[in-house]
Amino acid sequence: MGLKIYLNGQIVPQEEAKISVFDHGLLYGDGVFEGIRAYNGKIFTLQEHLDRLYASAGAISLTIPISKAEMGEAIKNTMAANNLTNSYIRLVVTRGVGKLGLDPNKCARPQIIIITDTIELYSKALYEKGLDIVTVTTIRNHFSALDPKIKSLNYLNNILAKIESIRAGAGEALMLNKDGYVAECAGDNIFIVKDNALITPPASAGILIGITRNVVMKLAAEMGIAVKEELMTRCDLYIADECFLTGTAAEIIPVVTIDTRVIGTGKPGKITQALLKKYRDLTVHG
Ligand code: PMP
Repeated sequence: MGLKIYLNGQIVPQEEAKISVFDHGLLYGDGVFEGIRAYNGKIFTLQEHLDRLYASAGAISLTIPISKAEMGEAIKNTMAANNLTNSYIRLVVTRGVGKLGLDPNKCARPQIIIITDTIELYSKALYEKGLDIVTVTTIRNHFSALDPKIKSLNYLNNILAKIESIRAGAGEALMLNKDGYVAECAGDNIFIVKDNALITPPASAGILIGITRNVVMKLAAEMGIAVKEELMTRCDLYIADECFLTGTAAEIIPVVTIDTRVIGTGKPGKITQALLKKYRDLTVHG
């Protein structure tokens, strides 16, 4: 059975959810998006995702034609139409249908798409075994070119990184910034544990400010674990006690090798596992 999709105020069968070839989201990657999860019928950190979506849109001078409250309602209605209580929600706002040529002012009205579906990013076995990741040569976008804070439809920087990691047989791509400091992975933020404290790159490293990252930092503080936002080099990662990635789809996934170097014991670390347990408690029980 096909999915029901929200498209510009209507919920339609997926076969009818079609976008014009003149949409600038398609032609130029001109638009913004979000990935959100719902657990047991509750949309996790909905407000934070809506805030980031509207901030991303603001940063590219795109005015979303409905309010955050209306967007939240639209998500709930789409989930209900699909009988979903546990779901991955993809929210997309494109610049809309325009003419050939970059000018966004030629686009009449942004298009809003909501897809609610299920997703499994990493297998259950990988959470037990841990992920192998590699540093890629594609550097993270410089903030003066395209700020990684903006979750835009222009994801080629990340896709080029992902292609490199796939070719290397690794589970994720570690991206450095133009100064050589650790930024983030192609689709996840990165943390290490060193001497029982968490360290993650600061916003100034040029990263997407992950919502899972923020939740994990808060959980760690509640657990009495020190959290530091510091610039790190690859060397800092190699000598870490533990390493893990965070993301809406990935939640918290342990990393056991980076560039074939074994991190810590080579198994998912104790603090990583404790955080994952707390995170799952929070998402499932609220
Ligand atoms: N960095 C990038 C580049 C991402 O695309 C994502 C989302 N997949 C993340 C980090 C994690 O962000 P969040 O926790 O908000 O999903």
